[in-house]
Amino acid sequence: MVRKIELNKRQEKILQIVKENGPITGESIADQLNLTRATLRPDLAILTMAGYLDARPRVGYFYTGQSGGQLLSGKIKKMKVKSHMSIPVVVSENTSVYDAIVTMFLEDVGTLFVVDESSILVGVLSRKDLLRASLGKQELASIPVNIIMTRMPNITMCEKDDLLIDVAKKLIDKQIDALPVVRLSDDGYEVIGRITKTNTTKALVALASEDVILE
Ligand code: ADP
Repeated sequence: MVRKIELNKRQEKILQIVKENGPITGESIADQLNLTRATLRPDLAILTMAGYLDARPRVGYFYTGQSGGQLLSGKIKKMKVKSHMSIPVVVSENTSVYDAIVTMFLEDVGTLFVVDESSILVGVLSRKDLLRASLGKQELASIPVNIIMTRMPNITMCEKDDLLIDVAKKLIDKQIDALPVVRLSDDGYEVIGRITKTNTTKALVALASEDVILE
């Protein structure tokens, strides 16, 4: 767990002292501030946990040299897809447009992934793909989704060890709402997860409210 914090005056003072005098013991910091070691303990714990200070036994505290901005961007660059992805919702390529619409409502998602009989990714269906197909007077129950889906190789994908920030950039660059997390198998790409704009927004909120998973 990593804390994103706003430093109070005393914590700023501690940072200043350690910057100028580190490595320095907790006792010496307390002396300089005319406080007891016990009073300082929570502040030192917070500064260490947040990454501003490092503590070495018998050496003391030293400044890590990172600004709040550097610490934050360091944390963002450690966030991996695997810790933030959702379960994917897939349909088979023979599914009718009608059933795909029903699935989208029942599963409460905005993007469906289309797979073949070997569970290999072959397409993507967005809300607008399904709306567009519904505009005409076609019989939706008899049109298979593989006629209207965006198909391979035009699908933007990611892998579970990719950085979340790189995937967020892809969502913006390609102007899409979601992309499949895939694993390469002998037959093609298996869908193992889903990253959406909601996942990336949630990760941002988690980062601000201190309990983001840095992996
Ligand atoms: P919507 O169309 O509901 O606004 P999107 O912006 O996600 O949703 O989709 C826009 C178009 O891009 C659709 O035609 C959809 O099939 C396609 N699309 C969606 N996700 C992907 C993806 N990961 N890779 C390639 N194309 C995609």
